Amino acid sequence: MIDTKAILFDIQRNSYVDGPGIRTTVFFKGCNLRCAWCHNPESQSALPQMMFYQRKCTGCGKCKEKCPHHLERCDFCGRCTLYCPQEAREICGKEYTVREVLYEILKDQSFYNSSGGGVTFSGGECMLQMDFLTEMLKRCKENGIHTAVDTAGHVPYEHFEKIFPYTDLFLYDVKCFDSGKHKQYTGVGNKLILANLKRLLATDKAIWVRIPIIPSVNDSEEEIRRIKCFLDSCKPPDKVELLPYHAMGEHKYAVIGKKVQTFSVPSEEKMKQLKNILS
Ligand code: SF4
Ligand code: SF4
Repeated sequence: MIDTKAILFDIQRNSYVDGPGIRTTVFFKGCNLRCAWCHNPESQSALPQMMFYQRKCTGCGKCKEKCPHHLERCDFCGRCTLYCPQEAREICGKEYTVREVLYEILKDQSFYNSSGGGVTFSGGECMLQMDFLTEMLKRCKENGIHTAVDTAGHVPYEHFEKIFPYTDLFLYDVKCFDSGKHKQYTGVGNKLILANLKRLLATDKAIWVRIPIIPSVNDSEEEIRRIKCFLDSCKPPDKVELLPYHAMGEHKYAVIGKKVQTFSVPSEEKMKQLKNILS
């Protein structure tokens, strides 16, 4: 249905990192993992959130004055964001219909065609809002647009089967091989994730496996060897990417009132060494 709704937190045009060519990436709100290194912590809660940039605030009090609840509670009416002279308040997460998102996506169709790009559905975990995702994918395919689904894979396998006919590419995260460690750093074990990946790789779908490299979590040679060993036991993915941790999302934790866990950035030499193991 064209009026099916989902809560999204961003629609980013001109993306080059979420699949081939020039893409529009649609970010769904809500995730069933809690990765300690997440660079989009505002994606984790499925509900809208107030983002407050303390360093911009001058304490003028306009937000409290205009808020119907004097900031004692929030129903995301948006008044405080409109009246704040410093743009120190922002609501993250908004309900969109399929029609609205399709309208945004179609604006860049000529760029997708000329670059071999398309649309990527990401998050958060886009496979937690399946009705909307399925409808979006269908509509994109009806319009001849390449589709990619970026997932952490912690969902029933039937979800993948439901969207097979309309998905050209899966971007599939493998965060670490040891299930205990996986649970420690993401909140869930990895049995379902790896089992889904194995089944997915046995199909004829295009799959890029993406491994974020997080120092002190999964940057050891042994860890990458174990992932390689697992992948070698499956039908090979079309691509395996190692993505170095970056600290660009760290400031967002304070903005949504969460504690941040910091990690170091892996060196170029380390990334090269780990890439060599996989190749
Ligand atoms: S969004 Fe509305 S309800 Fe929420 S704090 Fe701002 S003014 Fe108050
Ligand atoms: S209106 Fe903006 S600058 Fe003024 S107190 Fe509220 S958040 Fe701070």
